[in-house]
Amino acid sequence: SVNINNLADEYMRLAYHGLRAKDKTFNSELVTNFDASLPEVNLIHQDVGRVLLNLFTNAFYAVHQKQKQLGAQFKPKIELSTQLQQKNVVLTVKDNGTGIPESIRDKIMQPFFTTKPTGEGTGLGLSLSYDIIVKGHNGQIAIDSEEGNGATFTIILPII
Ligand code: ADP
Ligand code: MG
Repeated sequence: SVNINNLADEYMRLAYHGLRAKDKTFNSELVTNFDASLPEVNLIHQDVGRVLLNLFTNAFYAVHQKQKQLGAQFKPKIELSTQLQQKNVVLTVKDNGTGIPESIRDKIMQPFFTTKPTGEGTGLGLSLSYDIIVKGHNGQIAIDSEEGNGATFTIILPII
């Protein structure tokens, strides 16, 4: 039985501090909007933890890249929110980073697809997330992005 609010908060901070350990000048605004009425969900803590860690690692990477391009005038921002919608827990991670170009949108869920340099990405995060959320928990992953303006990943998990 997992409290998604706590788990997501923990992984957002873990990913943030992981990046800050590599680049001490990196700063991001973190916004959280938790639905306190969220019921605990029956799932494997480590599985969903991996999904969350990858979502946040991707989001921080995207804002970090954009900050390297635009400099100090760009203010990174990551927003995490949870909601109870009917019989689903809905978790949204929104970043204002580089966004996902239309031309690669069909490919990002494929195993080993990555736009990151060797050593920075394996391309396995989203395909593993698909296996865990969609195949393993009957959930859904929705992606919304505008190139240059960030990306929003929504995870929908049925409560069982
Ligand atoms: P990896 O992070 O190892 O590259 P993923 O499966 O997690 O592998 O992501 C695949 C690709 O999807 C990334 O290389 C990137 O091009 C794109 N992507 C994922 N999340 C984001 C995001 N938040 N913003 C921009 N691009 C993203
Ligand atoms: Mg990744």
